[in-house]
Amino acid sequence: MISADHRMIQESVRDFARAEVDPIASELDNQAAEIPMPLIRKMAELGYFGLIFPAEYGGSGLDTLSMALVTEELSRAWLSVGSVMTRMIITGSLIHANGTEEQKRLWLPKICSGEMLAAAAFTEPDVGSDAAGVKTRAVRQGDKYVVNGEKAWCTFANRAHVLCTLVRTNPDRPKHKGLSMLLIEKEPGDGFDPPRLSGSPIPTIGYKGMNSYNVAFDNYEVPAENLLGGEEGKGFYQLMATYEYARIQTAARAVGVAQAALDAAIQYAKEREQFGKPIAEFQIIRHKLAHAATEIEAARQLTHYACQMKDTGKRCDLEAGMAKAFAAEMAERVTSECLQVFGGYGYSREYPAQRYWRDARVFRIFEGTSEIQYEVIAKRLLAD
Ligand SMILES: Cc1cc2nc3c(=O)[nH]c(=O)nc-3n(C[C@H](O)[C@H](O)[C@H](O)COP(=O)(O)OP(=O)(O)OC[C@H]3O[C@@H](n4cnc5c(N)ncnc54)[C@H](O)[C@@H]3O)c2cc1C
Repeated sequence: MISADHRMIQESVRDFARAEVDPIASELDNQAAEIPMPLIRKMAELGYFGLIFPAEYGGSGLDTLSMALVTEELSRAWLSVGSVMTRMIITGSLIHANGTEEQKRLWLPKICSGEMLAAAAFTEPDVGSDAAGVKTRAVRQGDKYVVNGEKAWCTFANRAHVLCTLVRTNPDRPKHKGLSMLLIEKEPGDGFDPPRLSGSPIPTIGYKGMNSYNVAFDNYEVPAENLLGGEEGKGFYQLMATYEYARIQTAARAVGVAQAALDAAIQYAKEREQFGKPIAEFQIIRHKLAHAATEIEAARQLTHYACQMKDTGKRCDLEAGMAKAFAAEMAERVTSECLQVFGGYGYSREYPAQRYWRDARVFRIFEGTSEIQYEVIAKRLLAD
């Protein structure tokens, strides 16, 4: 059960999403257009980017459950809108957990307020699940690092002011021990800054509203003080420690998209008539809806359970992994079945059922694939 305070947060975000996001989501998705910047500014003003960070660093000091509730409601309106904050959560929690006090005071207030928008640059063209294999090289030269290499799938890279980037600072140390996290500042804009910094968007089947970029660094200079935590060789461990938040937030995104698909399918099933009655009166359609509602609630409760673990200071990589893996697969099944309820119109861009289905497909891939989640879960089960 969620508390009255949590309910208030949920309702206020729901109102915001209904007023500001619902009316534009399908049209912008159809045009493959980006989320309007004024909407992102409003989200920043409402404090969505700093939800979980302490007030002393400009955040709202709320718990993980609040973050999950906000995420679910935003993603229910449009996955991409619920995913803008993911970038600030990942970068902010990396800084909060691992930054020096000076770095926290410098970066966190700007990230919480949206003055500084962030993107996560971990994946590379040849390096995905095996993050320890990162090749992008950062070489220390006096008071700066010189960065060379390529990142892939860096979502929101164009609009970001900072790319939170996993780099190799020491090629002589074993894979994960030679990695560091660099906060790489850039000017926002689609043009990037070639040849030092280039970016090209990757065409995708869904998750419109934000573009994911291949990003190339060519002797790009970064002040040495932007090394997270001020110590080389910690990047891999720093990243692992943020996975709990990121996976919980992704599970909440999946629940939101699945809920949206079910909302739409229920409405359509009541309105659409065949054989002289609403299709909602056919048992097979009713049971599709019932199954979907049951699966969504199971994923939601698993997500909230992981939040509770996190909020009581317990290790929750297992629970966060379970929630993420289950919610991702649930969202794929549920959005597909809800599309089926629409018949041919489910396949048409006139209705949002196809958007939910296209968007849901990504959950099994990003923030650690399902295969990797099951490895994490199995490792814990079989330990000792
Ligand atoms: C829309 C989108 C947005 C993204 N945004 C970002 C972002 O903002 N920042 C960022 O850094 N990355 C981002 N990513 C990248 C994403 O995190 C990676 O795609 C993901 O980690 C998987 O890596 P990969 O694509 O290289 O697949 P690979 O790692 O090459 O995996 C290919 C297949 O092999 C399986 N596999 C790999 N290793 C194992 C194993 N040990 N055991 C069993 N199976 C295995 C995988 O599960 C998968 O099925 C995004 C991806 C997408 C699609």
